[in-house]
Order: sequence, then C-alpha cells, then structure tokens
Amino acid sequence: MLDVDLHSHSTHSDGQLTPRALVARAHAQGVRCYALTDHDELSGLAEARAEAAVCGMQFIAGVEISVSWAHETLHIVGLNFDEQHGEIVEGLRGIRTGRNARAERIAASLERAGVAGALAGARRYAQNPELLSRAHFARYLVDLGIVKDTQVAFRRFLTPGNPGYVDHQWTTLAQAVGWIRAAGGSAVIAHPARYKLNNQQRESLLGEFRDLGGAAVEVVTGSHTADQYATWARYAQRFALMASAGSDFHGAGESWLELGKVPDLPYGSTPVWSEF
Ligand code: AMP
Ligand code: MN
Ligand code: MN
Ligand code: MN
Repeated sequence: MLDVDLHSHSTHSDGQLTPRALVARAHAQGVRCYALTDHDELSGLAEARAEAAVCGMQFIAGVEISVSWAHETLHIVGLNFDEQHGEIVEGLRGIRTGRNARAERIAASLERAGVAGALAGARRYAQNPELLSRAHFARYLVDLGIVKDTQVAFRRFLTPGNPGYVDHQWTTLAQAVGWIRAAGGSAVIAHPARYKLNNQQRESLLGEFRDLGGAAVEVVTGSHTADQYATWARYAQRFALMASAGSDFHGAGESWLELGKVPDLPYGSTPVWSEF
C-alpha cells in the first residue's frame, strides 16, 4: 500500500466530503502525500492545504481537467502547480461556463425521457453552483427512486445512447497540458484504461501527450484492475512517462477504492511524486 493519494474529489466538484473532511480522512488512513483534484475547479485547494498543514501532511495542488480528444472525453490531472496562475484559472473558468450550458441540455434530454425538474434537482446535490456534474444528476435520479443507485443511473441514463447524455466540447489536450505546464505543474493522463480507444489510438494519445510535455500516466487508480496496472505501467515506460497513483475517491459507497487505500505501483515505475 502506498502512503500517497494523488486523485480525489470534494464538495467543490462531485465529491461528498468537504476539503477539510477529506484531508482529515486521508490523514487518518495514513496518507503522507495528498492531492485534491476536483473537476475543472481550484476553489477547494486553500481549505485542503490549511487542513493538511494542521495534520502535518504534504499537500499537492491538484485538478482534473475535462478534455475532448478524438471524439472521446479524457481527464487530465494536473499536479503541483501554481493555483494562482492566470492561464489555468481563466481556462478552468471557461470550462465551468461550458458545464453550466451542458447541464441545461442534460436536463432537457431527461425531460424528454419523462424526468422532470432535473436541473433544479441536480442543483440540490451540488454545493458549488459553478460545478454541475453528471454525478449530481445521478444522485437526483436515485433520490426520485427511478434507479436504485448511481451505478444504475449511469447505466440507464447519462451515458452515450441513453437519456441525459449530450455531446459536449470540452477543452483540447494541448490547452489542458499547456495550462498545467505554464503554472509549473505536472500533467497526468487519468485512468487511461477507461477510455474507448483502440491500440493505435492509445499509442497516438501517449505520443501526442509526451510531445506536449505531459509527465505521467495514472497507473494505479480505483478505475483499473490489477492487470491494467501492469499494462499501463508498461505503456508509461515505453513512452518515457512517469507513473501516478490515486483512489479517485468521491465518497463512501460511490468509489472503488477507499481514500488512501492505494496499492503500490508495479516494479520499475518511476513515481511522479518523486519530483514533489
Ligand atoms: P462529468 O464530468 O460531469 O461528465 O461527470 C463525470 C463524473 O461522473 C465522473 O467523474 C464520475 O464521478 C461520475 N461517473 C461517470 N461514470 C460513472 C459511472 N459509470 N458510475 C458512477 N459514476 C460515474
Ligand atoms: Mn467525478
Ligand atoms: Mn475522471
Ligand atoms: Mn476523478
């Protein structure tokens, strides 16, 4: 088990715990190096950093940026950057504006499928009015009793081909990596096994990402199986990229891995945090 967790979400995006509660939970689980990585949002970092200082834990500024690449949505984690840097602050603000417009289209799509009031309903679960995620719509569908849990909500709604899914243009890979690098940080491809890419597309993503100055691949994550840890550790090595690790914790009952319960990297990986 690692004492590192470089991927998790608070109430500033679609997590269920406040930044303070998350940091306290990470500390209680034995984490010594921790990053908060809310979707497209930096507003939770100050509170998390302050609590980490109280706990005596190393805190890494983080974010998870939504990207459109080859008709797929990718997530790029940024780590260890200057969160005051204008480019990333403004870039993320633009993504959040797009999210709000998307939320209206999601609600309209659900309405056509007979689910009324979804925008107001999802908002009830979103502490941050600037950050509406499909996870908030999923919680509303559970609340209505239409589905038994958020997994089923994503299976029957909110995913391609189902009501509540709408196409959306996020930012580009070049911009996301560029903002992170301009702010002095390290860019990481989050949970790569989750994307629907064939072998050729995987290779072109890794090559393009490395050429843009990307730093690492998230090898160990709650979204990967143990086999996938090995596969992606090999990809990282082949493309001279480092390896990252994080739970992607969103809250008890909504996550595959508990906060801080992150298995070791496969032998031979270079940890991205060795530079922090
Ligand atoms: P968004 O960025 O608003 O499109 O929402 C993506 C978020 O929805 C992810 O970060 C997860 O928190 C959640 N999510 C996506 N797919 C699933 C799924 N199959 N089951 C549960 N949560 C999911
Ligand atoms: Mn999420
Ligand atoms: Mn993600
Ligand atoms: Mn995440």
